[in-house]
Amino acid sequence: MHHCQGHRPTYVEIDLAALQHNFRQARHQAGDGCALLAVVKADAYGHGADRIAPALQQAGADLFGVAMVEEGVELRRVGVNRPILVLGGVYPGQEPDILANQLVPVIFDLETAYRLNTLALAEGRKLSYHLKVDSGMGRLGFRAEELPATLTALAALPGLAMDGLISHLAVADDPTHPLTAEQVRLFREALRLVRAAGFTPRHIHLSNSAALFSQQFPECNLVRPGIVLYGGLPAPDFAGRLDLQSVMSFRTAVAQLKDIPAGTGVSYGHRFIAERPTRLAAIPVGYADGYSRHLSNVGEVLIRGQRAPVAGTVCMDWTLIDVTDIPCVEVGDEVTLLGRDNGQVITAEEWAQRIDTINYEVFCQISKRVPRVYLGG
Ligand SMILES: *Cc1c(COP(=O)(O)O)cnc(C)c1O
Repeated sequence: MHHCQGHRPTYVEIDLAALQHNFRQARHQAGDGCALLAVVKADAYGHGADRIAPALQQAGADLFGVAMVEEGVELRRVGVNRPILVLGGVYPGQEPDILANQLVPVIFDLETAYRLNTLALAEGRKLSYHLKVDSGMGRLGFRAEELPATLTALAALPGLAMDGLISHLAVADDPTHPLTAEQVRLFREALRLVRAAGFTPRHIHLSNSAALFSQQFPECNLVRPGIVLYGGLPAPDFAGRLDLQSVMSFRTAVAQLKDIPAGTGVSYGHRFIAERPTRLAAIPVGYADGYSRHLSNVGEVLIRGQRAPVAGTVCMDWTLIDVTDIPCVEVGDEVTLLGRDNGQVITAEEWAQRIDTINYEVFCQISKRVPRVYLGG
């Protein structure tokens, strides 16, 4: 465990060469003349934005997308010099950070536009923004019927310049769903209104990863992939269709072994009772690390290239594994919670399915107390 000398042996391994491979797939899929905005919100989906964003910048990402102003400021701090789009909101008091860090806000309410306009004028600047339209996601953005009045209001703000038009798809992971066609229709109508009102947005964009790998929108010239950069499938039915490499592995090591007789109960609530003489391995990882408590009696890990089940309740800092069927397990043996080990693999998709969520949440859940170790790149 050379990565972990002097540390608890629980860590996340990030493969920057795999990240670059995935980036190239997204770039190829986007095609010539289409800009690529790499979505690195939520600490690059738990992969560590301070290392992921510079690596993607080196790989050739044209822009970056974050959810929060704070995340954009962090990207500047680690040397990102490309445009950074703040997909989430700009809250009162955050306007100076937008201007000082040359962040590009997505505007979805007029109050924010007024505040940003005031500060931009006070500083003698013209601030670029992207306008968000709600074409059917029902979350953020101006609805079609609000657009004419909104555009009139925005046209009267000399401190702001519309540089992009953005909307977000609700069912991009299901190419047959009729909602997408309706969203595209509304987006095109919004684009027509925006141009008729005299705006000339440079970036026109709709596509997340699922849309990038399943649809084409001729009016768009920018795509916003996130999950595929990290090697995650946008939805289970993309399995076998994309050439992606998983970037994250999550590992720990056996801390203690013990043999218990049949009939012995283990961990909180004794939700596991040994049916046979059983060898247990205690591993120093728990729900405080993002090893979800829903994996109690359900999860599987890899030891010596073989699968072993979680025995009983996952605790805050500890989990017990039934290693009875794996010969010769020793204290210190590597345990893989997510990723590859000797030809076997536990994917984020498998993990997500076991606990009824999606791979995105599996990645984001791995907590900050787990150190990230970077390989390759
Ligand atoms: C998170 C996000 C994306 C990226 O989505 P993926 O499914 O990870 O590709 C794109 N656009 C917006 C607005 C987002 O919030």
